[in-house]
Amino acid sequence: MAASGPVKVMRGPHEATRKVRFGHALEVGGDFVVIAGPCALESQDQVDQASNAVKASGGHALRGGAFKPRTSPYSFQGLGEPGLMLLSEAGRRLRLPIVSEIMDAAQLPMMLDTVDVLQVGARNMQNFALLRALSKVERPVLLKRGFGATIDEWLLAAEYLLDGGNDQVVLCERGIRSFDTTLRNTLDLAGMAYVKSKVKLPVLVDPSHATGMSGLVTPMALAAAAAGADGLLIEVHHSPATAMCDGPQALTPEAFDQLMRGVSAVLNATGRRMAGDKPLAAVGGAR
Ligand code: PEP
Ligand code: MN
Repeated sequence: MAASGPVKVMRGPHEATRKVRFGHALEVGGDFVVIAGPCALESQDQVDQASNAVKASGGHALRGGAFKPRTSPYSFQGLGEPGLMLLSEAGRRLRLPIVSEIMDAAQLPMMLDTVDVLQVGARNMQNFALLRALSKVERPVLLKRGFGATIDEWLLAAEYLLDGGNDQVVLCERGIRSFDTTLRNTLDLAGMAYVKSKVKLPVLVDPSHATGMSGLVTPMALAAAAAGADGLLIEVHHSPATAMCDGPQALTPEAFDQLMRGVSAVLNATGRRMAGDKPLAAVGGAR
């Protein structure tokens, strides 16, 4: 009988982490990258404020949902295509690649016209028809872990993409549901480190959805950097109190700036660096 476990995602004995290109210039899977922006794209002003803040603090890519997978049908569902246009315009203006969630293969033509990276959300991690459709396109996929998915199920979801022909895949640990409901989710950092050790794909951490609380986002981002993640996915909003989605976990521009400084310090302390930062040898070289 043929193997049914993950095969193509596994790292060979001397194989390095695969570098996945986001847009023209950003490489994920080498130096540390931070993708940030609002949970949901809401308005021109909101997208501009979040995007400008991400760029000013050294973020490497913009995120924002135009199609939101909401638990309640009565919650804000996203702006749809006009939202994608706002994000795309911000990305062009700031020269940053953009990442947005695709919920249905029918959205592919529109998404391929606008976004650099197709995000598959936790709720769609095992939407196999969507995964098969995305396996046939030449665009990187950011695959989030389902909140009820084991590591093996997560890797097998990635296997659908690789097996179908798309090897431009980045994984993202975003917390799982456990017996403890105090926090929004339980961040599985050890699971992330385990996956890093076994799999050739870059692995990101999303401490925003993993905790649901803005005050815990930076501490968990620092921990993720120390534990070897390839980067972060962070929600940023200029006015978390009035955000239309996930306000309690959104970082203000000021808090995001502090996160970036802290993560750089942790990376430097562990012999790594933030993409775009000066090489360690050059720091202080002018003295
Ligand atoms: C998101 O990143 O916008 C999102 C909805 O996250 P998740 O799919 O992890 O819940
Ligand atoms: Mn969100």
